[in-house]
Amino acid sequence: MRELEERMRHDGAVRPGNVLKVDSFLNHGCDMQLYQHMADEWARRLAGEKVDKVLTIETSGIGLACVTALALGCPTVVFARKKESQNLQGSQWRTSVHSYTHNRDYTVVVEKKLLNPNERIVIVDDFLANGSAAEGLLDLCKQAHAEVVAMCFAIEKSFQPGRNILCEQGIRVESLARISSMDATTGEITFISDESEA
Ligand code: 5GP
Repeated sequence: MRELEERMRHDGAVRPGNVLKVDSFLNHGCDMQLYQHMADEWARRLAGEKVDKVLTIETSGIGLACVTALALGCPTVVFARKKESQNLQGSQWRTSVHSYTHNRDYTVVVEKKLLNPNERIVIVDDFLANGSAAEGLLDLCKQAHAEVVAMCFAIEKSFQPGRNILCEQGIRVESLARISSMDATTGEITFISDESEA
């Protein structure tokens, strides 16, 4: 999606360790017009699919998931929580996720009553990198016997293994900006769309 790619080039910052900062428009400050355009693009790609729920993970995915649910005409957003609630043990689907940005493992949970068998789920998140967050959300859906229609990411770092891990499991991946490489010294970001146009 050209608009997102241009915004990343203009306002994103490449940090050492292959981390892209997009705080001014995607996951701290949120540009709602851009969000709307991203959601509209996913709705276009998923036209004709019945979607019961949009699932995401706190915190950065929540705003994006809400706008996307509205664009999809889907009534409910559920976000997986990173904090455990001790007195609700047993009533939650839970899984473990490794945080790429914080380099630690944490448990994520969803109330069992919020994810049900045969529900058709679209998963939305800001980034796909190594795929740990995505696999965690997928695992929650598997435990609930819910069906994953597609996984939608604003930004995919295609040089990391997340996409392949998901595609090998037959999951439909819809990323709006796919980075083939980025350089912390020059700040340059190259997209897969640049290569296909060359
Ligand atoms: P994964 O589990 O696929 O390795 O990483 C996905 C999660 O890590 C995303 O939800 C996102 O919050 C965070 N993340 C991964 N790479 C980046 C990055 O380059 N920049 C930012 N801002 N977050 C990232």
